[in-house]
Amino acid sequence: MNERRAFLKGLVAAAVPKGSDPLTQRGSDPLTPAAAPDAWLERYSRQLVLPQWSEAAQRALEDASVLVVGAGALGSPVATYLAGAGVGRLGVVDDGDVEVSNLHRQHLHFTPDEGSPKAESAAAKLRFLNPEILIEAYPVHVDSDNVRGLVEQQDLVVDCTDSFETRYIVNAACCAAGVPLVEGGVAGWSGLVMPIQPGQTACYRCAFPTVPEGARSCAEAGVLGPAAGIVGSLQALEAIKLLTAVAPPLTDAFLQVDLLSLDVLRVNVQRRLDCPDCGGA
Ligand SMILES: [Zn+2]
Repeated sequence: MNERRAFLKGLVAAAVPKGSDPLTQRGSDPLTPAAAPDAWLERYSRQLVLPQWSEAAQRALEDASVLVVGAGALGSPVATYLAGAGVGRLGVVDDGDVEVSNLHRQHLHFTPDEGSPKAESAAAKLRFLNPEILIEAYPVHVDSDNVRGLVEQQDLVVDCTDSFETRYIVNAACCAAGVPLVEGGVAGWSGLVMPIQPGQTACYRCAFPTVPEGARSCAEAGVLGPAAGIVGSLQALEAIKLLTAVAPPLTDAFLQVDLLSLDVLRVNVQRRLDCPDCGGA
């Protein structure tokens, strides 16, 4: 293991000398790209040097197909970090159009994007971020008719919607298809993150059999951009753990984050055998 780490560190050091701008490593002729292995090492060098990371972890991301449901406040950080990390095929689903009131928290959209489909707006930015991966935009509303087709064949789904109805639909479809899911939500000063491995760990409906009392949307409760950024970043982190196995994800629990006090509470959840989504009832 240590030899492998030293080997990777050596490769990275060769590709990105200390103190240099990785961009200057490319040839002076802009039409002549750097050799592919060097470009690959440059792009992922800072995660490759992590002691827990490996070339196998990087390849696992490259081979993965991930669907991000929602291209808004949570979807922006989730899709940005997964694209940056090198997820090979990244789908973004959203049927909304960019509105000016989105921009303070949905950082994949800019003022000139107002009126554009969010899925397309997000995909365009993500392609600039990482042209080495495949980005797919799905400007559709997720419902019980199309969810199966969207979720099946994915290695992971990250739910970034602001709707309990969609959350339950996505949870049920992921449980039925056996596709791991990272749930998330933020409203006001409260955030939640819950990774789910169908058939192994408690699902979203095990934790919340019905819509929690007093639950409010961002439009009703308000939200700050960085608060959504924290929750989305935690979702992306757990997604990367699930895809690469570099560290165990949170299991049979959800994380409740109070973004006003910065208190973090881990709430354990047991799988319910009578759960209509994951219990096999
Ligand atoms: Zn369940």
